[in-house]
Amino acid sequence: MSSGAILEATGLTKEFKGFVAISGVNLTVERGSIHALIGPNGAGKTTLFNLLTKFLQPTRGAIRYQGRDITRMQPADIARLGLVRSFQISAVFPHMTALENVRIALQRRRGDSFDFWRSEKVLSKFNSEAAALLADVGLTEFSDTRASDLSYGRKRALEIATTLALNPEMLLLDEPMAGMAQEDIERISALIRRISKNRTILMVEHNLSVVASLSNRITVLARGKVLAEGDYAAVSKDPRVIEAYIGA
Ligand code: ADP
Repeated sequence: MSSGAILEATGLTKEFKGFVAISGVNLTVERGSIHALIGPNGAGKTTLFNLLTKFLQPTRGAIRYQGRDITRMQPADIARLGLVRSFQISAVFPHMTALENVRIALQRRRGDSFDFWRSEKVLSKFNSEAAALLADVGLTEFSDTRASDLSYGRKRALEIATTLALNPEMLLLDEPMAGMAQEDIERISALIRRISKNRTILMVEHNLSVVASLSNRITVLARGKVLAEGDYAAVSKDPRVIEAYIGA
């Protein structure tokens, strides 16, 4: 494992009934980076993301996180190691307020199972920590708003707050900007930049201007393989990348 690496995949391959969706992918995510995974439709981004977050088992290859082999681990186990996929473990409960959602996430961080009937007394211990997290994601004034009443962008911000409640060292974001209005994109971009200060982020994102402005490393996938890697200036000029996008 290279010295600055936090996550490293080697020879990662996923076959679906003989169809090779991911083929011998090597990927190194450096600690502290914002790393983006891009590529035309069908390139294998979702499959690779699901392999890295353990939602799928690879046919071949290995994944190491912080030097530890996580290839056969379950998502909940790797979350405990600090590698968390947003919008996953931290589901948002629509009928609860923003504050209640974050308090429950904080309570779950301690390994307690979720209990709808958990008393106010237990959850109120998390009030100030939950309020701080809501402030981090810009939702202070929506603390008492039910999740279902939040705008789409604010709901995603709440999901990020519930993910941060798990205190991840590395965050995997699956298309954080999907379906967002420009104003939300700007807010979530600022949030990702802020939370990346002491964390590593790997994201799949279609919006290339967001990728250009946020990420310091980009891996371009095409037909299940790594086509190019580097910063945005380098990969956006790469003729193979241009061809893959135009030819897709
Ligand atoms: P992307 O996210 O880059 O659009 P995907 O990872 O969704 O790409 O898909 C990569 C390829 O793998 C596609 O050709 C897709 O049809 C195929 N694929 C993905 N999941 C499955 C599956 N469960 N069974 C069979 N083929 C799949």
